[in-house]
Amino acid sequence: MEVIRFDECNVNMGPPDGMTEEEVETIPVHVGKFENGMPCTTVCLKLSDAELAEVQRTGVVWLQLMTPRMPPIYMSVLKPFEEPQPEKAPACGSLVMPEAGAPFHCGDAGTADGEVRLCDPCKARQPGGG
Ligand SMILES: [Zn+2]
Repeated sequence: MEVIRFDECNVNMGPPDGMTEEEVETIPVHVGKFENGMPCTTVCLKLSDAELAEVQRTGVVWLQLMTPRMPPIYMSVLKPFEEPQPEKAPACGSLVMPEAGAPFHCGDAGTADGEVRLCDPCKARQPGGG
């Protein structure tokens, strides 16, 4: 497993007191807090193809910490940070007369949950649109 840098990394964490870089390599981490205010240090580990194959075979991961007791840890295969959402272009509000269905104004809430109906030019201006 290899420690990899991710966008939210805000600290290069060096070896603990009394240890050298040869013994414990400096790694990029994110230092922050959990929602309940407890300190949280996040690291991202990337598995090699061989390790992925082993996990596929055994279904297990082993974790060893250089500490006399096991602190609360949270491991996940999901990134624990919100992905920044691309900013949406504003709707123009113009009246749209679709070939099928009722007319609507660009920016009106559609029938699908949370979906906003847009005119074609506004659709094209959205992130990933057009
Ligand atoms: Zn529009």
